Amino acid sequence: MLDNRLHFRDLSTKDSYIKRLQEMGIKTLRDLFMYFPRDYKNESEFTSINELRTDCDNVISVKIESIFSQRTKTGKDITRAVVSDNTGEIPVVWFNQGHLQQMFFKGSQIILTGKLKFDRGKSFLMSPKYEKPKNILIHTGRIVPVYSEYSEITSKWLREKIHALLRYVNYFEEYLPEWIINEESLMSFKDAVYNVHFPKNEETLNKARERLAFDEVFLLQLLALKRKKIWQDSQVATATSSINLEAFLESLPYKLTNAQIKVIDEILSDLKKNYPMIRLIQGDVGSGKTVVAAAIIYLMKSQSKQSVLMAPTEILAKQHYRTLISILSLFSINTKLLTGSTSDKERNEILCSLSSGTCDLLIGTHAVIQDDINFNNLGLAVIDEQHRFGVKQREILKRKGSPHLLNLSATPIPRTLALTLYGDQDLSVIDELPPGRQTVITRIVPEEKRKDAYYWIRDQIKKGRQAFIICPLVEDSDYIEAKAAVDEYEHLAKDIFPDLKIALLHGRMKSGDKDAIMKSFSDKEFDILLSTSVVEVGIDVPNATIMLIEGAERFGLAQLHQFRGRVGRGADQSYCFLFTDKDSGDALQRLKYMVQYSSGFDLAEKDLEIRGPGEVFGLKQSGVFDLKMASYSDSQLLNRARKSAEKLIALDLHLREHSSLRTKVATLEEKTMDSNV
Ligand code: ADP
Ligand code: MG
Repeated sequence: MLDNRLHFRDLSTKDSYIKRLQEMGIKTLRDLFMYFPRDYKNESEFTSINELRTDCDNVISVKIESIFSQRTKTGKDITRAVVSDNTGEIPVVWFNQGHLQQMFFKGSQIILTGKLKFDRGKSFLMSPKYEKPKNILIHTGRIVPVYSEYSEITSKWLREKIHALLRYVNYFEEYLPEWIINEESLMSFKDAVYNVHFPKNEETLNKARERLAFDEVFLLQLLALKRKKIWQDSQVATATSSINLEAFLESLPYKLTNAQIKVIDEILSDLKKNYPMIRLIQGDVGSGKTVVAAAIIYLMKSQSKQSVLMAPTEILAKQHYRTLISILSLFSINTKLLTGSTSDKERNEILCSLSSGTCDLLIGTHAVIQDDINFNNLGLAVIDEQHRFGVKQREILKRKGSPHLLNLSATPIPRTLALTLYGDQDLSVIDELPPGRQTVITRIVPEEKRKDAYYWIRDQIKKGRQAFIICPLVEDSDYIEAKAAVDEYEHLAKDIFPDLKIALLHGRMKSGDKDAIMKSFSDKEFDILLSTSVVEVGIDVPNATIMLIEGAERFGLAQLHQFRGRVGRGADQSYCFLFTDKDSGDALQRLKYMVQYSSGFDLAEKDLEIRGPGEVFGLKQSGVFDLKMASYSDSQLLNRARKSAEKLIALDLHLREHSSLRTKVATLEEKTMDSNV
């Protein structure tokens, strides 16, 4: 098989170009072929000189009647030519293309592409693209690929080089099994690569794009399904047989919503199987995911199995600890909290109770999956805010007893995207809030209304309410962000609300200090909590009814929605103020969506539309889920790819018979290992 290295000698180009290519991430021939055009120009229709138009690019095949270059006083090269066909003649002008005079002579045939111009009543072609007529045209007279340019690597240069090397595509293996190609009537890989660069016609171009898009989604699905199967590839000691939640449900002070019941049912049917569950529950902030997890923890206890719950921060872990103890108080479930700040003595005791089996439920941060943590009989692992954790953590959990896995996420995302990002899990959605929830009134506040807003906030606080104020996002530096927060704190405390008690929270504080501040805020020792985005997840302070977000346009919709979810948790009407100095553009449009929609799913849909998945889910850096050809919203393609991947995995889980696919999946796997998906 052909070595994948780029044959630089075949490129016959300067070292500086090769260096640029490498900067563009093009190191092998395959990389070069996978550098897809960003656009195409359909210049496949030829016209004649008497039909030239001013409003579009014309392609003509003509003879040169005269050509000469001269240098102007300002030092420019002007090349003037006259060209003809059997319908007439037309002058042509090029600037700084003196070499044309060496390429073309009186009598040469040439193909030109350009717009017709008029100057002082005379018509001519201005700087048209040109090409010598050949059997195969590259730059004109066809559907012409247009590439993104980078420094001296121009679109024209790429066209030439890619075209010259494309014959090597014949050495590339077809890696999809023949039956998938047939079933899905896909173009072969070779033809697809050829046609994506130099399509014969619109139809072959579409087929080529379809094939390449299919490959992208198919590989992601293969990896996801393989992970899922591997997770499931162990026996649960006993399938959960008698499932009785009655006592638990009766102990709750409220009735579960239909959505909560539906999701519990989905989980119960997983538990009846004799392999471990892997399920993601997506539900808006406040939709009641915790009680669903509690129901399953209760069930585990009734089967004498242990559960573990892992949360991304200490604050959240503690909150879960308090909540779960209270929900499960009637059922003598021995619950322990383990975080980085647990003392050694206490930790040792917890370790003992875990391995002896007297501890039923362990709640904590990353601390709960450290090497020396051993469970006696782990039945369930719950991961809150799962996107904060990676695949690695999941594998560690598996080694601790192949528990059922329940992932919780308050970031609602559209289904096609969820299937791509979280295709390794079964998906459940809690798409209903508990009854009686108020909608948080949301307003965009321009700079000139700032004073009024402050005045109004003071009034509310005097009536006994509390407020959050979120500082603007400072990208990539929590140092600068913290400093800005300190400055803002001083400003508010001195100039705006000298009579109120303000607390400050930022990412550079010690975790213990953060906890203390959160606690005293929820104990009403402060009126206002000024915070950077660290306050984002899970915090529950029912008396807080105001969420003020500075520089709101800098945050994504998902995050704004998370902030807003911090209020509206008690009985009083709550408000969200989006401060911004933007009065137009995409950023403002986003804020208008916040006013318009209260459901996280609706907002996620919009966010995806406006910004694309890379921005929305911070996947850009990982590069893994940056689809080049496919689109995350193409549900048809996704379903086809998923179906094929399911069939293949059923036949050959470890891809032993499909070595090139296996290599591709392994590469993808390596890349996703550290990403938090
Ligand atoms: P989240 O999904 O954001 O984790 P929580 O589990 O924290 O939401 O639930 C939010 C609040 O709603 C909690 O105070 C909880 O007690 C309450 N809650 C949950 N389910 C119901 C229900 N069915 N009816 C009324 N209140 C509920
Ligand atoms: Mg929660």
